[in-house]
Amino acid sequence: MDINLKDFAEKQWESEDRNRFKFYECPACGAKFFSREKRSHCVYCGSGMIKPCWSESIKPDGIIPFTVDKEQAVDKIRNFCSGKKLLPKSITDLDFSRETMGVYVPVWVLNAKGKSRASFKAVKGESFKKGKTEGIKKDYYLLKREGEIFFEDNILKTDKTHGFIKDIEPYYFAEAKTFDSRYLEDFLCDKFDSDKDEACENVRSTIEKNLVSQYKNDISGFSNVQLESMDVSFDSQDLKYILVPVWLMNFKYEGEIHSFAVNGQTGSFTGKAPVGRSEYLKYFLLIFVIIAIIGVIIAFLT
Ligand SMILES: [Zn+2]
Repeated sequence: MDINLKDFAEKQWESEDRNRFKFYECPACGAKFFSREKRSHCVYCGSGMIKPCWSESIKPDGIIPFTVDKEQAVDKIRNFCSGKKLLPKSITDLDFSRETMGVYVPVWVLNAKGKSRASFKAVKGESFKKGKTEGIKKDYYLLKREGEIFFEDNILKTDKTHGFIKDIEPYYFAEAKTFDSRYLEDFLCDKFDSDKDEACENVRSTIEKNLVSQYKNDISGFSNVQLESMDVSFDSQDLKYILVPVWLMNFKYEGEIHSFAVNGQTGSFTGKAPVGRSEYLKYFLLIFVIIAIIGVIIAFLT
């Protein structure tokens, strides 16, 4: 599939940005991020092994500034945690305000119209019985499908997109501003560490995967459906590298990293609360004791 990303911006970071920010990479989880302030721990996994780094990479086209403030984000996280009796004490004891950070997260946003054609090899099997002979008759098909493509401010979920983004969407890109590093002053920023070719390849394979899975969803009654060829042509296309605001609280429980994330533009929340071992045991014992007491009362009354 050939996707011509001709309008794709190719901005590079300027040396003044290099001087203003401190760039880090984390050998433990592979994250790359930067901030104005000096950092001692990784934003994502909490590792203290982060080391300064700089590598040439493309610069964002736009940025959606934070409109939800830290207090509102921390309230969302507190509300989620309140009443969760099985949440480990080591987490409820955390200083939520201190642990929550404002992070600009990079995404690819695509606006495009076009057409696509695809052909798939597929098999239809039918079992038969003739006298004493039994078997499966297989017919081989070449299926052709075509359709219109329409992307409107879609965030492309490449393998570099953080998992929590899909749970706190949407973001309203009409409110995005032209990128200026001054927006990053008080926040951390995560960056795509890729050049134009790598970025195009990543975007291309994501679009292909999405189209193939949509076509496959529409094919029923066949087995072993394999893509034979795919052709995509765009009438118009506009791909942008945008930074979106996220309030993030990461914490470790029993060696595993958990995240609470709040959309910094709309306030949407996502997060999963781990179940604490001793909290679970306490709860279980409490229920056991209540049942035992009820049992004793019933025995006494009868
Ligand atoms: Zn890390």
